Amino acid sequence: MEKVYFVLGVDCESTQPKVNNPSLGEKAVRGIAEVINKNAGHCTFFVIPGDIKKHKNIYAELLQAGYEIGLHLHPGTHGFNEYCGLYGPEQQETIIIQALDEFCQNFGRKPDAFSMGYASANDYTYPALKKIGFSHGTCSIPGRILPECASIWAGAPLFIHYAHPYNRCLAGNLDFVEIPITVDWESRMWSGKHPLDLRVELVDSKNHSYTIEKSIKRQIEEKVPVKIIRALTHNIFEFDNPENFRRQTLEGMIGDFKNICEKMRYNYEITTCLKVATEFRKLNPV
Ligand SMILES: [Zn+2]
Repeated sequence: MEKVYFVLGVDCESTQPKVNNPSLGEKAVRGIAEVINKNAGHCTFFVIPGDIKKHKNIYAELLQAGYEIGLHLHPGTHGFNEYCGLYGPEQQETIIIQALDEFCQNFGRKPDAFSMGYASANDYTYPALKKIGFSHGTCSIPGRILPECASIWAGAPLFIHYAHPYNRCLAGNLDFVEIPITVDWESRMWSGKHPLDLRVELVDSKNHSYTIEKSIKRQIEEKVPVKIIRALTHNIFEFDNPENFRRQTLEGMIGDFKNICEKMRYNYEITTCLKVATEFRKLNPV
């Protein structure tokens, strides 16, 4: 039986100035891991350097347990403009390397995975990530049109692909595997600037389940080689509290995902970005 993957990416930024609540960050990370463990799975935590510094031991434990720990970038926390997509190639490299160095100094290990704050990127971003040594991650939310955040992804590929060396909105042959956030490509919200995406905190699980089913069906129709539901959240909610609405939404999303797969007679796995990027590379050598 063919398989569909549920890949949750958690952008961890509890120490960034707008949030500044590391104890909530810790509780959130532990709560999310608890939910994922109960489902016999793993996920990817994308962590800003400030959070790695504060919660090094937790992430080391999670890494040991089979979770993936990647880098999340908010240039504002490093003294730059918050939106990476405003910068040229050399500047982006400088910003990313600075964050990476800080991450490595505190974690003692270089991440392979990357996720971009606000999905703010331009055509220089993927080549910069590749050059610096990242192999996979998430920069795109297909259909997002937020020029105020330098985050424009109109018409970008919906599913896993190699990035294009010159155009962020096309699939190409750059050796960086992009795992786009799952969206309902026919929906619009935020005054038409954004599609309904699979961030846990956006709507309830019932709403998310429509997007999940719709995306799986399309990936089957299009014979996408590695079928993925890519959800996201942030470590700024009380995921450790079983009564918390966000936690219940996450549990509901995973439960619905499993039911949908069973109904369609597909196997499923709840796993990391690394796992699906590796599967994709195996089937489609660059
Ligand atoms: Zn972020």
